[in-house]
Amino acid sequence: MKNIDFLFIDDDPAVCKVAKRIAESCGFLAAATTDADEFKQIYRNSSVAVIAVDLSMPQIDGVEVFRFLAKTNCQAGILIVSGFDRRVVEAASRLGKELGLKIVGTISKPLALEDFRSILSRSIETQHILVDDDRFEITAASFKEAVSGGELTLAFQPKIELITGRLTGVEALARWQHPKFGEIAPSLFVPRAEQLRIIDWFTEWVIDTALGQWARWRKLGIILDIAINISPLSLDRLDLPDLLSARCKAFGVPARYVVVELTEGTTQSAVRLLDAVSRFRLKGMKISLDDYGTGYSSLAQLQQLPFTEIKIDRRFVENCDALPESRAILKSTIDLGHELGLAVTAEGVETQSVLDLLVELGCDQAQGYFIARPMPGADLPMWAAERRAPSH
Ligand code: C2E
Ligand code: CA
Ligand code: CA
Repeated sequence: MKNIDFLFIDDDPAVCKVAKRIAESCGFLAAATTDADEFKQIYRNSSVAVIAVDLSMPQIDGVEVFRFLAKTNCQAGILIVSGFDRRVVEAASRLGKELGLKIVGTISKPLALEDFRSILSRSIETQHILVDDDRFEITAASFKEAVSGGELTLAFQPKIELITGRLTGVEALARWQHPKFGEIAPSLFVPRAEQLRIIDWFTEWVIDTALGQWARWRKLGIILDIAINISPLSLDRLDLPDLLSARCKAFGVPARYVVVELTEGTTQSAVRLLDAVSRFRLKGMKISLDDYGTGYSSLAQLQQLPFTEIKIDRRFVENCDALPESRAILKSTIDLGHELGLAVTAEGVETQSVLDLLVELGCDQAQGYFIARPMPGADLPMWAAERRAPSH
């Protein structure tokens, strides 16, 4: 079977040609076709990393292509190409995901050269890492070696108060820079650590690294909240609140500066969650319900739990300035959150116009690439200083 990095189907031969040429100029093995049957034939006879599908073609539409791919249990990453407005693309993307396809991004037409190149490279590289998963096996030993060898680090993403623009805290995000495979996404290695049952050990490393960084910032006069992501599986460990509290004391970090970010697990019981959340609170930490809107519970169900904050998942934030539905969800979530006495943070803010809308809707805090990307702990003091300096 032939390996192909990139397979493109679009009814416009000129677009096919350009896309293929761009992909090849990035060093990828590419194929492009305007014909559905030829597409199927190439697909069946090759192992493809990333497929880009034009949503509208006279002979076959993108959705039919999705159904075909889903039937074959396609493992390739799928890019949606479209000149339609975002709602159509969003709907197609949702459908693709429901069919079990790995939708990895969207490309709008006309193709903007640089965007196309970067989306393509990123998705193909990620796909290769995933496909190489068998060869690139994360074992408990390799994971621990990565930590001791300094390949695993934490990056910190600033979080600001919306009305003042003031830096209020950071979220600690794990990073793995592998010498051979490059950057490995936490969405890949965190679930693997859970699978390998070394998540508690990993969580302890995150806690110590984050608190150690807090103490270093403190010495420089920077005092802010530090949010730590805790895997729902770690909550099975009943002494986690005690452990976190003890580590705070060891590093001299007052518990009120620590925010525990929790997502709803699919397996843990509500009682377990209530137990953990209550005990973190009793120890003085703040608790944030992460990825709000993607879980199963409604805010009303969650209100018995003593969370201090909800973080609205970025899927509702990303296009809220363009999609009336997202805007409506955002507004009602912010209002309901406030009625329940919770602070509301929006994540995934990528543009000024989204930021403006969040201010208008009364959201409390925001985080996202538009404000700052996650950065090494040592870079934060400079970032904070530049932010405070009057703009020129
Ligand atoms: P999360 O907790 O929802 O973290 C936010 C993710 O959104 C981060 O991805 C961050 O880099 C990304 N992000 C921030 N601003 C933007 C933006 O404006 N646009 C977009 N598109 N993305 C933005 P990251 O670092 O890849 O982490 C992915 C997930 O991995 C995290 O999602 C979290 O669930 C998990 N994770 C990361 N670090 C840890 C950790 O130390 N422990 C645990 N248990 N999970 C972690
Ligand atoms: Ca988080
Ligand atoms: Ca989140």
